[in-house]
Amino acid sequence: MTGCKDISHLLSDEAKIRKPSPIKTTMKYFSDPDIIFLGAGMPPGDMFPFQSVSFESVSLDDDTSSSSTVKGCIGTNKDDLELQDDIPLGRALQYGNSRGQPELVSFLKEHSTIFHNIRYDDWDLITTAGSTQAWDACLRLFCNKGDTVLLEEYTYSSSVEAATTQGLNCVAMKTDNHGIVPEELEKLLQNWNSHSQGPFPKLLYTIPNGQNPTGSTLKDERKPAIIKLASKFDLLIIEDDPYYFLQMNEFGQPQSTIPDDLSSDPKEAKTQLLGQLSKSLLEWDYEGRVIRMDSVSKTFAPGCRLGWVIGPKYLLDSLWNYHEVSMQSTCGFAQTVINGMLQRWGQIGYMKWLLKLRNSYSIKRDHSLNQCFKYLPKDICSVNLPTSGMFFMVFIDAKKHPQFESKFQSNTDLMEQYLYEKFVNRGLLLACSSWFRVDPQKMDTLAFRGSYASVSAGKMEKGIRTLGDIIREEFQV
Ligand code: PLP
Repeated sequence: MTGCKDISHLLSDEAKIRKPSPIKTTMKYFSDPDIIFLGAGMPPGDMFPFQSVSFESVSLDDDTSSSSTVKGCIGTNKDDLELQDDIPLGRALQYGNSRGQPELVSFLKEHSTIFHNIRYDDWDLITTAGSTQAWDACLRLFCNKGDTVLLEEYTYSSSVEAATTQGLNCVAMKTDNHGIVPEELEKLLQNWNSHSQGPFPKLLYTIPNGQNPTGSTLKDERKPAIIKLASKFDLLIIEDDPYYFLQMNEFGQPQSTIPDDLSSDPKEAKTQLLGQLSKSLLEWDYEGRVIRMDSVSKTFAPGCRLGWVIGPKYLLDSLWNYHEVSMQSTCGFAQTVINGMLQRWGQIGYMKWLLKLRNSYSIKRDHSLNQCFKYLPKDICSVNLPTSGMFFMVFIDAKKHPQFESKFQSNTDLMEQYLYEKFVNRGLLLACSSWFRVDPQKMDTLAFRGSYASVSAGKMEKGIRTLGDIIREEFQV
């Protein structure tokens, strides 16, 4: 293990001048019995109108019996908690802990070391209000107005909007079915033209697993090359990976089950339960250039507004300084309840829950792709095979439309809008790929994004059949 490289020159001007909030530096004295603390406007805990929160988890067993549900009731004080590692509600709801409540941070650090073999010592983890907030905060941490950010050519539209509204220059990186293409990235960086492309990029944003919108997953073999390029061209990487735990079973393969000889060692249990998961960019990072963003939005529930970032401690300290004067901290209720559930499940129990998620997403993915194979005309449509996440893309060969030139002036965006409206009129909503396109000029693909996450099997079949019908009518096949 080594230390990470100092890349603090990549911090934004704003982050360079930001100092720890002076009033927040006093918080460490708040619970010191030797200090009469008159220093902060904190409402007294005994005036919070809550005595406890209670929760009950779903079962972790395959048979959905209630034998492995966990229940908890968490009160306000440390002295009357059911578990030593519960977060007392009185503390969770108070000002003060903007790095995250220590019990939760400690669980998440252990979880992260089970799943990612981090190569340098001085890393840290702080909680966020989810990856949307974390991305916005990272942009402020590293970018000045006008700076250039690299993103996959199709990407999560909110991430692009957050960057453009901060006045940043968003430039697309070439991708294929396996994510960023390192050779193309190298060409892009090597031949950078500041006149036409803007300032040399500072930050690279990627969604490595189950990419939104394409559903593609960055190949493990490409990751070391991307990390090397980041080092060579002095880039910072933001790894936005909310779909990491939605890595699925092989297409058409039986469901994974909990083995009878499940190890009590979390690292071994991880392999027994979840097999070989892809390696994160964080794991390949040997210099401390990757900030990894995780979120409970896809593993618990989006309304929890809870996530975390991992990266070099000195960089997260700067992020923390910003959090202290912006979001202050992650929601106390969310931290208490999620931590309560995680502590009762334990690391291996949590993996069993992740296995359940994997199995149900695999069933949904297999079903929706089978409907595509059954109902879509093969010579017009093609569909990618997602190995993780919630999304699949239907690509349509626009040139095969009999009126591609006459009606749509060979413009795929015009055709996309026309088809989108046709779909909606027939009761089907698919997202237009142009909504996710970083370069608005690059209109060479006609594609729609579908998600199998929250649709019943029957509705998925009906939707894809409708899609097939419309394509056949339109393309006259
Ligand atoms: N990042 C990506 C790539 C997403 O697809 C999404 C949600 O769809 C988010 C972030 C939002 O995550 P969170 O709910 O943690 O803000």
